[in-house]
Order: sequence, then structure tokens, then C-alpha cells
Amino acid sequence: MLEKPAIAGGTPVRDTRIFYGHQCLDDADCQAVMDVLKSDYLTCGPKIEELEQKLCELTGAKYAVAVSNGTAALHVACLAAGIGEGDEVITTPITFAASANCALYCGARPVFADINDKTYNIDPESVRAHVTGRTKAVVAVDYTGQSTQLDELLEICREHGLLLITDGAHSIGTKYKGRPTGSIADMTTFSFHPVKTVTAGEGGAVMTNDRALYEKLMLFRTHGITRKPELMSRESGDQGTIGSWYYEQVDLGYNYRMTDIQAGLLISQLNKLEKFKARRREIVKKYDEAFLQIPQVTVQQEIPESDTTRHLYILRINPEKLTIDRKQFFDALGAENVCCNVHYIPVYYFPYYQKLGYQKGLCPKAEKLYEEIISLPLYYGMSDQDVDSVIAAVKKIAAYYAR
Ligand SMILES: *Cc1c(COP(=O)(O)O)cnc(C)c1O
Repeated sequence: MLEKPAIAGGTPVRDTRIFYGHQCLDDADCQAVMDVLKSDYLTCGPKIEELEQKLCELTGAKYAVAVSNGTAALHVACLAAGIGEGDEVITTPITFAASANCALYCGARPVFADINDKTYNIDPESVRAHVTGRTKAVVAVDYTGQSTQLDELLEICREHGLLLITDGAHSIGTKYKGRPTGSIADMTTFSFHPVKTVTAGEGGAVMTNDRALYEKLMLFRTHGITRKPELMSRESGDQGTIGSWYYEQVDLGYNYRMTDIQAGLLISQLNKLEKFKARRREIVKKYDEAFLQIPQVTVQQEIPESDTTRHLYILRINPEKLTIDRKQFFDALGAENVCCNVHYIPVYYFPYYQKLGYQKGLCPKAEKLYEEIISLPLYYGMSDQDVDSVIAAVKKIAAYYAR
């Protein structure tokens, strides 16, 4: 007799609900925040520089610019890249809307390339097929934490004079051919939202090795204002009348600063990145081993070049082998008290993008993927028992509704 899923009247695999993600904060994190609160600087202080230094050490990038969130990081990266009216920016539809919105903020048009249907990352060949005379940059997303095919993407970008921006919101700690995310693309952005591997509450950063891009990122972070004489327009003859208070706004920037409170928390979180990474890996391995045995689901493939810190675990159902669809599978997991999510709805499905003229059918592989995916719980604080109950729920549902 097959065990009945809770949604069909059986007993759930667990009595408490588990969610797809949760931050992990300890006493050291709380103390780090307290220390900043008692210090002289709540913002624009020494914790920002310390954080930027730490991010450089961690990624091997020359420069880091801490900003208020991952979306702001993408926006200043696009501004620094000189993206503007009439330009095109190629990205993937399987991402959070911010990866495409950053092009719209600059007056440019996002162009969606399709994905590789095994790794779910942007397909370099599809990127190549979408390059036009107007293309200025590629925003490639390390979806679930797995690195994109950076060599192939860089080759296309160099060939056509485009900048490569990696949206690394999922991939802090990941390496490509042994080099950390953040040191390879022209710019890499991070997000430190609470669902990500390490958190600042809200926070983001842009990494680059290019001095000129770095100077621009710093300007766009704070209003386009500078105190650096070499960036100012004042005449040398003004020297006598201009005091140390003097600064200039030389471009139109924003207030995208991170506070020292956030930086203090993030520095403390980054001290635990290796630990977080190892546990996430362990959980992914358990899931992979279990799900490879079940023909009703498919496991995400990894390129050998990527040494991945996994942010999301994607369960892909195999509709030909099931009598239920993704929504029914998702609801059945919920009834087992395994509360999942879906990452992502293709960006151009949203009404805002539809109004801009994007139509369904643009990226068939991405659209098919969207119909079949469920994000399972994956975070540092999960116990082995939690992991086992998630596996048990998936197995029970897959067996009961097998075709
Ligand atoms: C979280 C996320 C962002 C945005 O980051 P915020 O810090 O929430 O602004 C951008 N891109 C991807 C892929 C993300 O997952």
C-alpha cells in the first residue's frame, strides 16, 4: 500500500512548518551590531571600509563598493557601465526582476536570452544570438549560486565590446575554475538580504578590478558628489578662496549608502561563510542523492568549473511521470508542512513587462522550466531531521502520484 500524502487525507511528514529559507544570527552577530550602535559612526564610518576590505580579501577583487541593497548594486553597476537611453542589456528571464529592472532604470531595454535547460543558467549561445549594435552589457545571474559559463560569456563580451556584469546575489562564496565570484566579470554585484547566504538585514556590494569603474561606482553611491580634487572642475585659481568644506556634485547620483550598523552585522556574518557554505553543501548532497533515485523529479546539473555555494535548491518535477502538475505538487508539499517557493516567474511575464511589449514565448526553455520548478527549504539552520522530512515528503508525493 502506498502511503497517503496529507493532501489526500494522510498524516503529514512533520507537525511543524519549515520554510524555504531563514537567516542564521548568533550572539556574535548581535554583539557586532551593539558595538556599532555604541560607536561614533552609524553611517559613513570605519565599518564600511572594513567590510569593503573583507569583501576584497574574500573574492580577490581589487575594489568593493558597499551599497544599501542588491538592487542598488545592480543600478550603480549599470550607471558605471555607461548604460543609457537606447542601449540594450542582455539578461536571463529566470531571475529576480531587479536583474532586468536595472537596465530600465537607466532608460535601456532588457533583452532576454534563453537558459541552458540542464544548469538553468543563461546560455552563452543564446546571448550571442541576441547581440545587436545597441547591446552595451550582459547581466548574467549565478542562479541558485552556480557560476555561469564565464569564459564563454567573457569571450562574447570581448568580441563585441560589451561589459559583463555578474548578478551574484546567490553566489557569494562560489568559485569558477578556482577563482571566487567577484574577481572575474567586469563587475559583480552581491545582495545581503536575509534569505541570502549571509545577511546585513538589507545590503549589497559591487566588486570590480577596474579603477575607473570603481571611481564611478563611488560617485553614483552618493549623489555624484566628490571631494577628490582630480575629479572636480574648479580652477586652480580658486585655491585661495575654497576651503576644506568644499565638494562638488559632478554627476547625478543617489543615496545608496549602507550603514555601519549593517556593515558590522555583515562582517560578523562573513566570518561564518565557510561554515554556512559547508552545511548548505551537505544538505544539497543529501537532496541530490535522494532525488536521483526518483524518476518523477530531475536534479539540477552543475558545470564542472563551478565550485558552488548553493543558495537555492530547485526540485524540478517530471510532468510525463506524474499525474499531478507543479501547483498540485507544491500544494501537496505545503500540506506536509514543507513550505516551498518558486524561483522564478520569468521576468517578462509580469504585467509591467507585458505593457512594455514583451510577449510570452521569447525563451521557451525558461518558460518550460518555470512550469516545473519548486524551491525546497535550504538554509544553514536546518537539522538533519528537517532535511529527512523534506525528502520523505517529496518521495511520498512522487510515489503516490506516479504515472
Ligand atoms: C535578491 C536578489 C536581487 C536583489 O537584491 P536586494 O538586496 O533584495 O535588492 C537581485 N538579483 C537576484 C538574483 C536576487 O536573488
